[in-house]
Amino acid sequence: MAETLSHQLLHRLRDAHKRRKLSWWERTYLPAIAQGLLITNRHFWQNLGLHIAHRVGLFRNIPASVTIQYPDQRRVTSPRLRTRHRLTKRADGTPRCVACMMCETVCPARCIYIVAGEHPDPNVEKVPKSFDIDLGKCVYCGYCVEACPEDAIRMDTQRHDIAAYSRDGMWIDIKELLNPGTRKFGDAPEKFVQLTPQEFTQLPATPPPPPPGTNIAPSI
Ligand code: SF4
Ligand code: SF4
Repeated sequence: MAETLSHQLLHRLRDAHKRRKLSWWERTYLPAIAQGLLITNRHFWQNLGLHIAHRVGLFRNIPASVTIQYPDQRRVTSPRLRTRHRLTKRADGTPRCVACMMCETVCPARCIYIVAGEHPDPNVEKVPKSFDIDLGKCVYCGYCVEACPEDAIRMDTQRHDIAAYSRDGMWIDIKELLNPGTRKFGDAPEKFVQLTPQEFTQLPATPPPPPPGTNIAPSI
């Protein structure tokens, strides 16, 4: 009895997934094409009508679709959006990072590469001599930010465009991480660049990240 019921259920499920046979008229795809064109036209005339109405002060409470002229104009994004990484600094301008490797360890994409070195100050155990991220592999999960015990890495630059002419161009090195937006479009950084002790203590101050939605020239 139970077997009969399960067979019946199986048949019903199989029938439910059977695709309806298309008629010869449907198989020409003309009705689907006409339907698509009708939807596009409806949106076009609706938006055109609304834009004209807005010009003369009517229906201003009904928003009309607009085209954002990317990259000259950008959408307002949430401040919580995870954007390109940056390394934060102490009051004296040196990186907060203590090269503990937590972010490198937790990264599921294995795209963080850190080389630790001695800090000029004996009270600080380690510093990152080099800190590279391969954005071509990064999945923007934010685990590196969560794992950091020093609040040394953040993803709040509001820069989310990542485009380069080569895979090498997708890398960001320690200099760029400490000063986001210093690179010109298409330039590839020198991979595994290492800071000299002098450079380490003379890092320029990082400008605060731009507010969400600010127009930023593409830097990668
Ligand atoms: S955001 Fe995720 S994938 Fe990208 S570097 Fe951080 S931990 Fe790795
Ligand atoms: S960024 Fe944070 S988690 Fe990563 S090595 Fe530096 S201190 Fe450790």
